[in-house]
Amino acid sequence: ISLEDNSCDQEGPTLQVQASTGIKITDYATSQTFLLPRSIRTLTTSSFSGEKRFVCPHCSKRFKCFSQLEIHERSHTGEKPFRCTLCGKRYAQKGHLYTHQRTHTGEKPYLCLHCGKGFIQKCTLDMHQRTHTGEKPFICVKCGKGFTKKCNLNKHLTVHSDPTTGLYVESGQHDLNIR
Ligand SMILES: [Zn+2]
Ligand SMILES: [Zn+2]
Ligand SMILES: [Zn+2]
Ligand SMILES: [Zn+2]
Repeated sequence: ISLEDNSCDQEGPTLQVQASTGIKITDYATSQTFLLPRSIRTLTTSSFSGEKRFVCPHCSKRFKCFSQLEIHERSHTGEKPFRCTLCGKRYAQKGHLYTHQRTHTGEKPYLCLHCGKGFIQKCTLDMHQRTHTGEKPFICVKCGKGFTKKCNLNKHLTVHSDPTTGLYVESGQHDLNIR
């Protein structure tokens, strides 16, 4: 076994640090157990104790695995290596691509607890569930009325726009003239 094994998967040797005896390493591939003497423990624990040795050159955030750093770095570089094979849209993270591809496959893994309706994204489900719970997180700043959806609030906001002055009030800005 290599002491420089920094891979992220769980298939490598596992490590138990025992305060009194030293380091016990169990290699599940061979079912062998190694006990490292205390003298070399000080040299090896740092590489095993979860030290985050991969540092982002952009923001100095630290990561345990190179793959984690790689994914994080894309948030700085804007690199999007995951491409949808069906429509060509690109994504920085695999998970985002998977979520997107559900729009093609029709897969709806997020089910409403109240009515059983399926949704592609968790946020869409959350939004839908508010129609059951009556939660209205979008509040009109003008009159305090609550709305379940942002688009409904936006629609409502036109009520407060005054057509006689030609001013359309949107997100606190008064410089939009609709005439
Ligand atoms: Zn960074
Ligand atoms: Zn697509
Ligand atoms: Zn529902
Ligand atoms: Zn209002």
